[in-house]
Amino acid sequence: MNGNGIFAVIGLGRFGTSIAKTLADHGAEVIAIDNDLNKIEQIKEDVAYAVALDATDIKALSAQDIQQVDAAVIAIGEDFEALLLATAHVLDLKVKRVIARAANLQQRMILEKIGVKEILSPEETVGKTVAETLLQPGLRSYFELPDDYEIVEIRTPKRLVNQTVRDIGLRESYDINLITIKRTFKEEKKNGETVQAQHVIGVPRPETVLYESDMLIVMGKSQDINKFVECNE
Ligand code: ATP
Repeated sequence: MNGNGIFAVIGLGRFGTSIAKTLADHGAEVIAIDNDLNKIEQIKEDVAYAVALDATDIKALSAQDIQQVDAAVIAIGEDFEALLLATAHVLDLKVKRVIARAANLQQRMILEKIGVKEILSPEETVGKTVAETLLQPGLRSYFELPDDYEIVEIRTPKRLVNQTVRDIGLRESYDINLITIKRTFKEEKKNGETVQAQHVIGVPRPETVLYESDMLIVMGKSQDINKFVECNE
């Protein structure tokens, strides 16, 4: 990640705070903004600047040089009118990259109409992840890519345990690419204690054997990945 980036995070609820802290942890310069002084007190040690101001006031925003940041995240939650106004101001100030939060489809539509290109819905994202975990405990989503492609982590389907990559024919039979395998190894520490450690096996070879406890990192279309998981349960 670019350690020299400057980011503004407006609205320091749980979502905004987590974004601001993660950016700062990765070396980014963060301007954290909230109109609640307590929120500013709580975050001020963790970020470069923490300022109490009302983000619906364009003068207050431009006084903090918001126009100079590489990206602004507007993470106000409950008060959609305040989020909308703050977002409109940030767009007016010609901030290069504007990311706003939407709690539902209507809010998303309105944000799109005023010209926001990047919209986040933490509630939806978390809801989807939880549902996926419940439906398919062995499958974890890493990246959603355009055109319905994704990269996911799957526990080796039972039917394929102890087979080689060549035997399974992931590409030929399922249209999925195996990127690598996360494998658990037993390792002996200097004091003689045995611990379990996870490693990736690098680039899989045709003769690589899949073990029961392996996690497969695969890339493909979601429907093909789902078919692969279902076929082999
Ligand atoms: P989360 O779901 O992220 O925990 P939340 O439900 O706590 O968020 P809110 O409290 O609605 O979300 O909003 C997040 C933050 O936005 C709050 O800390 C609130 O003080 C701040 N906020 C609300 N309105 C403004 C405003 N006009 N200017 C600056 N900050 C604001």
